[in-house]
Amino acid sequence: MSPTGILKCLNFGAVLYTIAAYILIGVFTLFVALPEISKDVPALYWERMIWSSFLIFSLVANLCYIRRKRSFFHDANITPVASTRWQRCLDCNNQPVPPRAHHCVLCKKCILRRDHHCYFTFSCIGFENQRYFIVYVFYCSVSCLYALYLISCYIQKAYSDMYSMTYVDYILPITVIEWTLGYLEFQPFMAIFIAYLCAITGFSSVGIFLWQSYMVLLGTTTHEYSSNVWTYRKDIQTNIYTVFGACWPLHFLVPLPCVRVPGDGIMWRVEKHV
Ligand SMILES: [Zn+2]
Ligand SMILES: [Zn+2]
Repeated sequence: MSPTGILKCLNFGAVLYTIAAYILIGVFTLFVALPEISKDVPALYWERMIWSSFLIFSLVANLCYIRRKRSFFHDANITPVASTRWQRCLDCNNQPVPPRAHHCVLCKKCILRRDHHCYFTFSCIGFENQRYFIVYVFYCSVSCLYALYLISCYIQKAYSDMYSMTYVDYILPITVIEWTLGYLEFQPFMAIFIAYLCAITGFSSVGIFLWQSYMVLLGTTTHEYSSNVWTYRKDIQTNIYTVFGACWPLHFLVPLPCVRVPGDGIMWRVEKHV
């Protein structure tokens, strides 16, 4: 299999993981764990349900904008500016591409200010959708860690006494063996399995969020960072403005497609040469 074929398989697997994880975590948390742990206090149930709805809204809305605002460069007729660093893309019929744009073998296009290809959202992250991606991974972290907290409460309340569980019983391979041998029922087994899913997805998202925030503050992209390119670095405020546009904290409340990212993603002023 060719390297591109392997990447396509990885992409397909990552998308399947995302869909399966969201369905399992969402359904189990909202329809099994939440009613059980909140049944004595109805007000707490609704409070948690409203917060969960906001988290789901933020995830879905930002995911839609990540997909919708993919920053493909497709204007092959644009004339390169001699003073800027245009290059030619061999994969796109040798067309000139602006500085900071790079080709993606999975998207089969050149992406403006390309950061990286996200396998889990099946989208290249670049000029216009990086701000939605950062907010998305932030809420992905919060959602998964919140679900982990709710499921932990559920396991504690519903099963730990029933099965006299010790910390060893929460180690996943041992849980699998206990379930296979019939010492543990399916529902507590699923609760522990989904708690692991929450922890893996949640802590990975925290890592991605921190990395992306670091890139924004540095005024560079993952691609440029790995190539040791610091040409477009500015002061921190301008670096944040370059990715988010105006009113950047508001993007964490609701997606703001009406607030445009500054510039056109094609012309980039060189600040300093390294
Ligand atoms: Zn290209
Ligand atoms: Zn891509």
